[in-house]
Amino acid sequence: MKQNFKINYPNSEKVYISGTLFPDIKVGMRRVSLMPTVTVHEGRKITTANAPVLVYDTSGPYSDPNIRINLANGLPKLRQDWMPGRKGTQHYYARHGIITPEMEYVAIRENMDNAAHGITSYITPEFVRQEVAAGRAVIPCNHRHPEAEPMIIGNRFRVKINTNIGNSALSSNLEEEVEKAVWSCKWGGDTLMDLSTGQHIHETREHILRNSPVPVGTVPLYQAFEKVNEKIRDLSWEVYRDTLLEQCEQGVDYFTIHCGIREKNVHYALNRLTGMVSRGGSIISSWCDIHHEESFLYTHFDDICDICRQYDVAISLGDGLRPGSIHDANDQAQFAELDTMGELVQRAWDKDVQVFIEGPGHVPMHKIRENVEREKEKCHQAPFYTLGPLVTDIAPGYDHITSAIGAAMIGWMGTSMLCYVTPKEHLALPDLEDVRNGIIAYKIAAHAADIAKGFPGASIRDDALSKARYDFRWIDQFNLSLDPERARAIYEAANPHQGQFCTMCGPNFCAARISHGLCQEREEKH
Ligand code: SF4
Repeated sequence: MKQNFKINYPNSEKVYISGTLFPDIKVGMRRVSLMPTVTVHEGRKITTANAPVLVYDTSGPYSDPNIRINLANGLPKLRQDWMPGRKGTQHYYARHGIITPEMEYVAIRENMDNAAHGITSYITPEFVRQEVAAGRAVIPCNHRHPEAEPMIIGNRFRVKINTNIGNSALSSNLEEEVEKAVWSCKWGGDTLMDLSTGQHIHETREHILRNSPVPVGTVPLYQAFEKVNEKIRDLSWEVYRDTLLEQCEQGVDYFTIHCGIREKNVHYALNRLTGMVSRGGSIISSWCDIHHEESFLYTHFDDICDICRQYDVAISLGDGLRPGSIHDANDQAQFAELDTMGELVQRAWDKDVQVFIEGPGHVPMHKIRENVEREKEKCHQAPFYTLGPLVTDIAPGYDHITSAIGAAMIGWMGTSMLCYVTPKEHLALPDLEDVRNGIIAYKIAAHAADIAKGFPGASIRDDALSKARYDFRWIDQFNLSLDPERARAIYEAANPHQGQFCTMCGPNFCAARISHGLCQEREEKH
């Protein structure tokens, strides 16, 4: 395991904003310093300073030069002192009118320096409490994962993105998966799901959890399946329950549970073009078929909630019957499962368990709105968390793009979290470069949705980057971008003589340069 593993961003420093209700809270952000704008007026060079820009930061202690990190020991336990005396979940406290440190933390994190910009924001700690109490937002934070920085999933907040990592029986190893987790945090993943199968599931998850500053989700059915030697018939509630407890104890923050599958609905998926495409969904549907019984995930849902409540593990109701092609989108199988999820949401809330809803998958653009509206109606406005959706099926190798188009639309329409897709989707297990490409595609989708939703302060960074671009402050343009390294490398490879134009149009056709000249001429005339 690497020593002092760090994340560096160009011209950036780690800064913290303290809490008011809880003064010991320190919410980390990234401050990007900018160069001044230089203009010439009547032959004189005039320099005007540009204010630094704060950026929402998911890199945790990895980008703080004052914290030494050893992956073998894990991250500092940020929330450890917040835990003593904890009696319930965030939902429990919210319903009882109590603001927790996590609620103030996320309020500060969502707003960043909006107040300094004179931007009014509706997001206060009390607003966070109300949204959590109503079940419209979730703060996934297992008491046993104190390394995680609180974040919130809800449609009145910034749209979040999830990344999937984890080894399979055929590729990847433990160290690589931890590095992928840190890599995901570097590029902006808000949560990550460890979808490991194959050997060493427990050990891999332990290392990921201890080194993850973001909430970690899993699909416990995968490990239960390994425990019965991948024999569907042998799966049982007892094996599943023990797996849940094992993962709760380790600190997993949310579980995808495919409990919306009812025996009576499975046949709807069998006549589709692409059947079932959810691993968990296909396993549990086969179990129902073999045993001619209702799934134990459904019949033991209240027991599952009792376990999750003890640790404040959120439940992500998995869409086991999600469509696997645009042909199958919005069909009877998908919507029958959604109806069951609506019933389960209410049962989770009755036990103070935080819950959100997973959604598809593959949906053509004209069918996306129906998904969001139906989810809100049937699931009582619990947060929606969708995989893409891919809006066409003809671009394997580019599915981070086909799905980011759908993700931007569904985020704008009210989805709270977007599960990323990499270029390797449908083809192979992603490597580090695929993770980076998938995350950036999804950061674009989520941010575009925030702007379209009118999220307070969402376009501060856009405006600063646009001004840098128009000023020919190339370095600032790179540093404000989602992927500064790539932007800079592309520019430098093509522009050996850096100046007030680039090779896109050349000096004489550079519209920005011509526009500047026009402004200067006008000024001199008047
Ligand atoms: S040359 Fe074209 S692309 Fe490049 S800076 Fe000028 S206007 Fe922009």
